[in-house]
Amino acid sequence: MNSPIELEQRYCAQNYLPLPVVLTRGEGVFVWDDEGNKYLDMMSAYSAVSHGHANPRLVKVAQEQLARLNIVSRAYHTDNLGPFLQRACELTGMDMALPMNTGAEGVETALKAARKWAYEVKGVAPDAAEIIACTGNFHGRTIAIIAMSDEEQYRRGFGPFPPGFILAEYGNLQSLEEKITPNTAAFLVEPVQGEAGIVVPPAGYLKACEQLCRKHNVLLIADEIQTGLGRTGKLLACEHEGVKPDGLILGKALGGGILPVSLFLARREVMRVFTPGDHGSTFGGNPLAAAVGLEALNILVEDDLSACSASMGDYMLTKLRKLDSPMIKEIRGLGLFIGVEIDPALSTAREVCERLMQRGILSKETHDTVVRLAPPLTISRSEIDWALDQIDAVLAEMDRLRLAS
Ligand SMILES: *Cc1c(COP(=O)(O)O)cnc(C)c1O
Repeated sequence: MNSPIELEQRYCAQNYLPLPVVLTRGEGVFVWDDEGNKYLDMMSAYSAVSHGHANPRLVKVAQEQLARLNIVSRAYHTDNLGPFLQRACELTGMDMALPMNTGAEGVETALKAARKWAYEVKGVAPDAAEIIACTGNFHGRTIAIIAMSDEEQYRRGFGPFPPGFILAEYGNLQSLEEKITPNTAAFLVEPVQGEAGIVVPPAGYLKACEQLCRKHNVLLIADEIQTGLGRTGKLLACEHEGVKPDGLILGKALGGGILPVSLFLARREVMRVFTPGDHGSTFGGNPLAAAVGLEALNILVEDDLSACSASMGDYMLTKLRKLDSPMIKEIRGLGLFIGVEIDPALSTAREVCERLMQRGILSKETHDTVVRLAPPLTISRSEIDWALDQIDAVLAEMDRLRLAS
């Protein structure tokens, strides 16, 4: 019989390079493999599992909804979409929301909204709207989204790309100012860049971007698919600088680690550009997604997961910065959204992740050099202490091997 790994290698497109482990169960901050080994999940599915695996409240709501009503499409109203979107809007200070499924769809929705707003409200000439994104951005994998990317591998072989996207240097206000023209519809930005390697911009950057956008009548759209919902220690990462975007994209943790749920939220003036038939999604806003999304938001607030992320993140960052290893080039982070940059002259993030796995920690490299540490926000101090011991041990053993060779 073929192993699950062999079957994936034969039948699954090889668009990922997974660590060699076969997971079969998850509970809280832990997952188990098919041999019964237990791991602390320091990846939480790129922040989609902020509530922990199989969170009992989310499982209960999902099971009840599963047995009641799941997919009807938006051809009809349902009893829980309104309450879900009301909660999301009230928590984020937005007026209206458009439900989608994956993050990339939420971003596409934001791009469409920004363009149509530029034509109908700002008065940009037909097909002339420009959207400014940042160097190092990650907003998903569709053709329009990779048209904004400056990551060669994300684009190679997938052109031609739609026009109308311009890059400004991330963290550099002057670069944004230089790229704004009368045709600029929106500035799309991650408050902390995740896939780029947990890159925190200079203090004050986002606030200054907000002011610049207001001055030029440009929409500020925050992609908080990964940074939102408590990950950086606030409900939204924008709150660290008191920034209120015109549009906001949520995903990942919004699905409670159970199913894909995304939202594009915006001010009424922006969302009003959508009229029936303009845009849609068969599964977007389905009753199961709405039930789980609403409960995911309720848990975030009631358990104050943002505060957990802030205090545990601070604790972990402080301890990590005390680790004395020549392998560590830099440690960056905000809340439980942490990247450890490994000196490429000495090793790779992949090797660190493989060794952490052998010691019962699952993480994943981002690019070649960054080890991502982003556990469920429910992680305890003692679990962090244990993880820090393992990280320390792995770095020490790699250092010994390096010096011996
Ligand atoms: C993950 C991510 C996306 C894409 O979300 P998918 O659900 O994978 O389509 C977009 N933007 C950011 C910032 C992300 O981290």
